[in-house]
Amino acid sequence: MSERLEGLGVSAGVAVGTAVLLHAQTVPVVPKPVPPERVADEIQRFHDARAQARKEIESLRERVRDQLGEQYAGILDAQLLIVDDRRLVSLTAQKIRIGRVSAGWALSEVSGEFLRAFDQVEDEYIRERGGELRDVQQRLLRILGGNQTPKTEMRDGPKVIVAHNLGPTDAIALAQQNVVGLATDVGGRTSHMAILAQALSLPAVIGLHDASSRVQDGDPLILDGDRGHLVLDPEPAEVDSARERIDAHLARETAMVAASGLPAITRDGVEVVLRANIEFPEEMRMAQRFGAQGIGLYRSEFLFLSRAPELPTEEEHYQTYLSIGQACDPHPAIIRSLDLGGEKYFHEVLAQSEPNPVLGLRAIRLCLKRPDIFLPQLRGFLRAAAECRLQLMIPLVTRAEEITAVRQLLKEQAEILRAEGKAANPDVPLGIMIEVPAAALAADIFGQEADFFSIGTNDLIQYALAVDRGNESVSRLYEPLHPAVIRMIRMVVESADRNGIPVSLCGEMAADPRYAGLLVGLGLRELSIQPRSLGPVRQRIRELDGDHLRRIAADAGKCGSASEVESLLAHELAADAPEPVDEDPAMDRNAG
Ligand code: PEP
Ligand code: MG
Repeated sequence: MSERLEGLGVSAGVAVGTAVLLHAQTVPVVPKPVPPERVADEIQRFHDARAQARKEIESLRERVRDQLGEQYAGILDAQLLIVDDRRLVSLTAQKIRIGRVSAGWALSEVSGEFLRAFDQVEDEYIRERGGELRDVQQRLLRILGGNQTPKTEMRDGPKVIVAHNLGPTDAIALAQQNVVGLATDVGGRTSHMAILAQALSLPAVIGLHDASSRVQDGDPLILDGDRGHLVLDPEPAEVDSARERIDAHLARETAMVAASGLPAITRDGVEVVLRANIEFPEEMRMAQRFGAQGIGLYRSEFLFLSRAPELPTEEEHYQTYLSIGQACDPHPAIIRSLDLGGEKYFHEVLAQSEPNPVLGLRAIRLCLKRPDIFLPQLRGFLRAAAECRLQLMIPLVTRAEEITAVRQLLKEQAEILRAEGKAANPDVPLGIMIEVPAAALAADIFGQEADFFSIGTNDLIQYALAVDRGNESVSRLYEPLHPAVIRMIRMVVESADRNGIPVSLCGEMAADPRYAGLLVGLGLRELSIQPRSLGPVRQRIRELDGDHLRRIAADAGKCGSASEVESLLAHELAADAPEPVDEDPAMDRNAG
């Protein structure tokens, strides 16, 4: 009998595969004596295993680079260094020789001692680095045990990663071949784990409570990112129907790519600009495939996560923004300045924790306090902006002074760069995220300082409703259609209009085709969403009527609860006739 675990679907799609428990991969080793005449062979076997491990890590490095970029691939360099670490290698060889034990046993003894030392270090960051050593240890033990292919790379079919939680370096495991889905015990809809899964186009269900202790390695699973559940031990009929849905998904995605050149325009000619949110420069390819008109949000903090605790250099900032800006041409790319802190792995960067980090020293507050972090970013940005079309966006703004401070820094740093003989362009649009109720309520004031707004509903909902966006136990209360949220969005759009500046919405809410109509009705003409949602949102907008949407949005403003708004949308928009995606009514109209 199959069993269904309910969670939150945070990245669309269905996956059928066998389970790989991410943090429970220990290869058993038993002590085996080696006769004196075989000692030299055993040491050679250890070196051969190292060579094989090196080959595997290098090929994994290549795949990670293709999918996530050089910054993430660089994490694997640490593992390559460990494979060749002189102390590890010589102590293991010595143990084989003197103790006359098998290579696997010698290695597990020596590396075990190193790992115990890591565990005792107080610094959380260094402690976590022990994970790299553990990965290498397990890889070598697996090879020495005669199993040639790593669990997640086994050729016997697709794998669904199951974990209690994911850290930033786990992105590497997700980028492995054959990984088709992700299931975790914890996390909320807009947690960074969810964003990562979307960036990698992996169906994902999170908030599954105890899935990682219920599932065993190798268990057959169906993961349904659309409906938010994980099926353990599925019946053959369930597998057949899941496979049919996978095929349908693929067909839909192909149709979306085919329609990616069509404008997102309502039947009565209201045009919406659709841009993409990305975390890795490599996602540009996908953004373009699905017809993004530029990048509406590049989350630059992801640059840090792959380097922590090292800070990215000015040159790395420059190269990254230049590559994004050039790939976007002729559309603009909006680079968001570092949004570190809150739930975004603060300790990874600063090895520091706060009692209430979501209300603490995060995002622009942190940047203005830490020139060593912020100035290299601004300098890299200014240099790249001299060569391509970039805009800068500040996260978590709560005070007008933060905007003027950044503008001043841009001016000063541009002058310094020029004095150093480097090209710099400070005359870029400087916008702000509206993601705190204070900014929404004071948008008319902030609009006098900022060149554009982008409404970050992921945080705006969290702060307005006092609901932690990453906590599944309150995820039911995380309501994008809450009257307070709708009112704030309207207020921000009106303030932008009065100030004559553009306003976009880049929270996950914009990626949901059910909400796209309401947002257009509220006056939004720019949305920025994860690449894979561009197609469905474009298609939905093309089915709707702008005038009707304005009336629905006005009615939504009078509703007393999120569920009332939901029923209103379901009732009003159900009747809008879908339109085939391969026709362009705007062109017909122009022709007429
Ligand atoms: C938001 O808060 O809506 C947003 C887009 O930013 P992030 O999800 O990176 O916090
Ligand atoms: Mg945010």
